[in-house]
Amino acid sequence: MNAIPPLAAAELTVAERDRILAKTALFNPPPITTADGRRELVGLSREELAEEMAAMGEKPFRAKQLWHWIYHQGETDFSRFTSIAGPLRAKLAERFVVSRPEAATVQTSRDETRKFLFRFRDGQQVETVYIPDTAEDRGAVCISTQVGCTLSCRFCHTGTQKLVRNLGAAEIVGQFMAARDSYGEWPSPKDDKPRLLSTIVVMGMGEPLYNYENTAKALKIIMDHEGIGLSRRRITLSTSGVVPMMDRCGEELGVNLAVSLHAVTDALRDEIVPLNRKYPIAELMAACRRYPGASNARRITFEYVMLRGVNDSEAEARELVRLLHGLPAKVNLIPFNPWPGSPYQTSTYEQTAKFAAILNEAGYSSPIRRPRGRDILAACGQLKTESERARKATA
Ligand code: SF4
Repeated sequence: MNAIPPLAAAELTVAERDRILAKTALFNPPPITTADGRRELVGLSREELAEEMAAMGEKPFRAKQLWHWIYHQGETDFSRFTSIAGPLRAKLAERFVVSRPEAATVQTSRDETRKFLFRFRDGQQVETVYIPDTAEDRGAVCISTQVGCTLSCRFCHTGTQKLVRNLGAAEIVGQFMAARDSYGEWPSPKDDKPRLLSTIVVMGMGEPLYNYENTAKALKIIMDHEGIGLSRRRITLSTSGVVPMMDRCGEELGVNLAVSLHAVTDALRDEIVPLNRKYPIAELMAACRRYPGASNARRITFEYVMLRGVNDSEAEARELVRLLHGLPAKVNLIPFNPWPGSPYQTSTYEQTAKFAAILNEAGYSSPIRRPRGRDILAACGQLKTESERARKATA
């Protein structure tokens, strides 16, 4: 009998990646057209914009002009695209729209964190959070990539809301653009000019590597230097550890990587981050070691939520040091942010400080994250759409 040769690890990874991408496609968003049939221009790549212009019999440079108005100037009204002649502006307005997700609610916390509930054309909603660094006049926008999430991490409020669908590129970029509208930060500041919305963390609702194509397209638009122009060094993508997609993310986007680790043994991580059953810690750490561009200047961030009596012992801190050995890494220690019905309590400050001291002593910077926006449920792991809360409340 002929033995079937075992698949090489690399082939397995490719097969697994293709499987993930095929599954992702099942949750793709609806087409980006309005009820009256006009096409949304936000979220189209440069090539797609050029194709649209060609279909209208226009020269390729029109795409460059549109790009400038949409992503540099932040304009949404074709009548203000003044470098384009009036008749063409009118034709554009007949066929296209440049829009933003609708802000269903905007809440500003006592600490100035601002949470947006954005509603899309089909009524689906996600949350986006702006976390200002008021001392420095800058801040991070935390954007979502899915409505709900498949992963059910046990400490996470979003994880209790089942996946409804992926967000499209327009909806991902649109969150950032709408947040910027809210602070009036247009045109896009050039080069190293200070920006209020200075960094992006892809850390909101959803697992971005389970919506890779749309997330990648959106981030490429955001990084384009003739538009929003936020460099890849200012963007951090956070994953729970979708190992087969991590290499591609590093090679294609080169953004900073954050990993939701939260436990140092497979037994505990299987429980807290159930994706671990598929991609256990050893595989995850190997993918981190391969991640392109990681260096001491661009360290991988490991997120570690502090759960009292669950994952916060000194022995676990020492095991974490062992796991990180040789990796350019830093650890964010996140006090657990409770939400109604959550099964955990946050670690005491003393225990968190002891945990941090062990990491610091081993040379890993491990800031204890100050909880932000707690009063408006905007802190890490608390995001969940109001619609879902309301639905549950009436069930
Ligand atoms: S932590 Fe992220 S990946 Fe895990 S359930 Fe929450 S949103 Fe999903």
